[in-house]
Amino acid sequence: MSLTSIAELQTIIQTHIAQRPLPLDGEMLPLAQAAGRVLAEDIVAPVSIPSSNVSAMDGYALAQATPAQSSLKIVGESAAGNAFSGSLKAGECIRIMTGATVPACCRTIIIQENVIRDGDHIVLQQDAPDAANIRYTGEEIQAGQTLFAAGRILRHADIMVLAAQGIGSVAVQRKLRIGILSTGNELVEAGNPIAAHQIYDSNRPMLHSKLRDCPVEIIDLGKLPDNLDATVQTLHQAAADSDVVITSGGVSVGDYDYLRQAVAQVGTIHHYKVAMKPGKPFVFGQLGSAWYFGLPGNPVSGFVGFDVFIRAALWQMAGAAHVPQPLRFQAALTRNVKKAAGRADIQRAIISQNRDGTWQATPTGKQDSHRILGVSQANAYMILPQDSGDLAAGEWVTVQPLHEAFL
Ligand code: AMP
Ligand code: MG
Repeated sequence: MSLTSIAELQTIIQTHIAQRPLPLDGEMLPLAQAAGRVLAEDIVAPVSIPSSNVSAMDGYALAQATPAQSSLKIVGESAAGNAFSGSLKAGECIRIMTGATVPACCRTIIIQENVIRDGDHIVLQQDAPDAANIRYTGEEIQAGQTLFAAGRILRHADIMVLAAQGIGSVAVQRKLRIGILSTGNELVEAGNPIAAHQIYDSNRPMLHSKLRDCPVEIIDLGKLPDNLDATVQTLHQAAADSDVVITSGGVSVGDYDYLRQAVAQVGTIHHYKVAMKPGKPFVFGQLGSAWYFGLPGNPVSGFVGFDVFIRAALWQMAGAAHVPQPLRFQAALTRNVKKAAGRADIQRAIISQNRDGTWQATPTGKQDSHRILGVSQANAYMILPQDSGDLAAGEWVTVQPLHEAFL
């Protein structure tokens, strides 16, 4: 039987989550804290932008289109925040600044670079056509228009738009509660000495770090020894306290890999094993009302597994209407790459752009799933299709930049 493909597992996860949405009640947040959160309400524009006809430039407001060489008398001023309230007679104009309201008696603006000013007079150096350099009321946003729909992941640009609407706080979906847990008798926490048979826990700090970009609150459940009873007990508690539980280690077929057994006792395993390298053992399931993801212990597998399956799932659970898709494009291999058909390979690579605009990709050395330094050296994943065998230098492959390497 062939293994489930990456795309199939993504669909399985997506379908399960869609069938059982988490209860999400909104919370009000000050606008400046709302970027990266999921909007919980539709936002209708309270005001039009611009809210009046305003000048796009510093210059002079004229009653009508006026030919070059005309001389006009300056009889007043309209500045941003200080509108002109008088009227114009023939041969008159007003000084106007960017963002200032264009008075009803004016139809066009000539920019100051196109006039010569002498005291309270200007002489036009160019024709002033009708309706030039004016931003009209509601040109950008009309009051009453829906700006953003619930489910939008708020961006910095959205904060700017909402602020321009005089909106100081917004309703966003609450954060997901994510329990994270490492398993393994060999694990030691930072700051403690280790014996030769022990290793420091790198998965939990890595998960903490990746989860900072997601709308979550982390419940750090520490580390567990390879013991079925202890694991069952902790999963019970984790399920009660969290929306999602993510564990690392113990999902393979070794003598001390208890996670699947424990998950099956506490809840249900929806899927196990995916045609991906690194990270073939990847458990997706449910512990009571909490979702469960079981990453393999090798740190590179966990790193990649999070990016391929978990991030998108968390956004979906968090109420995002459109889950962000990773940026992908083609790059030419700079060297031959060994690959066995049967599993998609997510290799770590360095990509760079050539002078002609195309991209090239070089894998960061050996690709075993314990090679953590190679992930740091990489700036992209290279996604080699499941069916593909060895690849030759010059062949085009799909690459996915690691977001943090391309700010
Ligand atoms: P496992 O999936 O539990 O069989 O672990 C596979 C490999 O990953 C073993 O070499 C473990 O020692 C290692 N490993 C498991 N958990 C962690 C962790 N939290 N940090 C670093 N390495 C780990
Ligand atoms: Mg283990």
